[in-house]
Amino acid sequence: MPILDILLAEARNGAANLSDLVRGRGLRLGVTGLSRAGKTVFITALARHLTLLGKNGKNALPAFRVAEEGRVIGGRLEPQPDDNVPRFAYEDHLAALAGPERHWPQSTRQISQLRLRLEFERREGFMAGGSSMTIDIVDYPGEWLLDLPLLQKTYAEWSRETFEASAGAARASLASDWRGFAATLLPGAPEDEGQARQAAEKFTAYLRASRTDSYALSTLPPGRFLMPGDLDGSPALTFAPLPLSEGFVIEPGSLAAMMERRYEAYKTFVVKPFFQHHFARLDRQIVLVDALAALNSGAEAVRDLQRGINDVLGAFRTGNNTWFNTLFRPRIDKILIAATKADHLHHLSHDRLEAILRQLSARSIARAEGFGAQVDVIALAAVRATREAQIKYGKDTLDAIVGTPIKGEALDGHVFDGDTEAAVFPGQLPDDPREAFRGDTLATPEHEADVRFLRFRPPQTPLDTPPAQIRLDRACQFLFGDWMP
Ligand code: GDP
Repeated sequence: MPILDILLAEARNGAANLSDLVRGRGLRLGVTGLSRAGKTVFITALARHLTLLGKNGKNALPAFRVAEEGRVIGGRLEPQPDDNVPRFAYEDHLAALAGPERHWPQSTRQISQLRLRLEFERREGFMAGGSSMTIDIVDYPGEWLLDLPLLQKTYAEWSRETFEASAGAARASLASDWRGFAATLLPGAPEDEGQARQAAEKFTAYLRASRTDSYALSTLPPGRFLMPGDLDGSPALTFAPLPLSEGFVIEPGSLAAMMERRYEAYKTFVVKPFFQHHFARLDRQIVLVDALAALNSGAEAVRDLQRGINDVLGAFRTGNNTWFNTLFRPRIDKILIAATKADHLHHLSHDRLEAILRQLSARSIARAEGFGAQVDVIALAAVRATREAQIKYGKDTLDAIVGTPIKGEALDGHVFDGDTEAAVFPGQLPDDPREAFRGDTLATPEHEADVRFLRFRPPQTPLDTPPAQIRLDRACQFLFGDWMP
């Protein structure tokens, strides 16, 4: 058969070009989410499952069609193609999870990458028979996506917006030290390195304070101030907003000019390259969300989570005619929004968690779909640290979860030692997601989801067995099942 016919036949079956035929197709999968959302655990578990596929007889990913049909020949890690990106520390993370002192691995701090090759039997088409594909998993902090709007903002605009946001009731006390210092600065005075550094330090401390457990306020840019990656301590991050009055003219040599120069450099040398070299090259994206932590903290936290999700997903609502598309030509055609740590709930609540997440992300989903991307929502646990049990409580039988709480976790006055199992009644999410919040307005406290939330140790899993999971298989099917026809 002439090569053109082969290519046409293959194009119909999804292979893009001749090199796809020769070397197998390559898909770039972005994994993101704000700090502690579960990126590291997700990637480690995903890679563990995919590298064990087809090896131990029993398929642990039933909803992943190619695996369920027994067509996976094998999966393995390969050297990554990009020498200038750190490799995802898979072996270290796996050793943490599966080792004798099993514990959760070190969380994502910067961009990293891992390449997997999957060999499988094609079911259909001209090339039915052996085939393979690579998946480049790109792990990056969701905080970095929040920088996208900065590309369209001048230093003066960003300064004003940031000052305005910091004056709101929830933030004012956290920002008071930085705002107090900023009020002593004269934007028109000669540039001063010491003042710039102090302003940046106090501003960063304010952004960090907004993201602690007790103040999970939505994250404000610049993203690298919170997740600096390899820029930690770098002069590229030595700037901060200044109180500029409306119509203020920035004179050369002034403190404001110095700040403006560094802000522009941050955009040019940090933000743009990330979107150009990494984000714009992704084919598929999973956005991980720790919705349970917010549901557990109450109405204010859920409202904030909604803002956070929409801020992060804002980077994906980029259509054909936008400036962004002209600049970066993004090609993501499928986005999965995933609530992580679903093993903290009884399975009766998993669909409810998905319904709540769908409601929280509704605006962003509509926008992304409007631009042709397929979006789905899922509740998953990449590593299932609990099992289910029924417990007698008086005359009632309650659905409980059983796991080993992390040392120091406490419930009803009891402090756990890290070795003893405990059964917990996790509470139930509301059947109707509108009970957790109505449209953009949250319900009153008595309607808040009743979820009690303990942190558990990862389960004991032998190295040759993939860890138990919840709906990770569905995520695989959505994210790359169609590439394995
Ligand atoms: P990252 O900052 O997005 O990389 O977050 P991590 O992957 O490090 O996860 C943060 C924490 O969430 C972990 O240390 C675990 O305590 C918890 N976690 C993440 N994924 C799971 C999961 O699937 N099940 C359970 N029970 N806990 C998880």
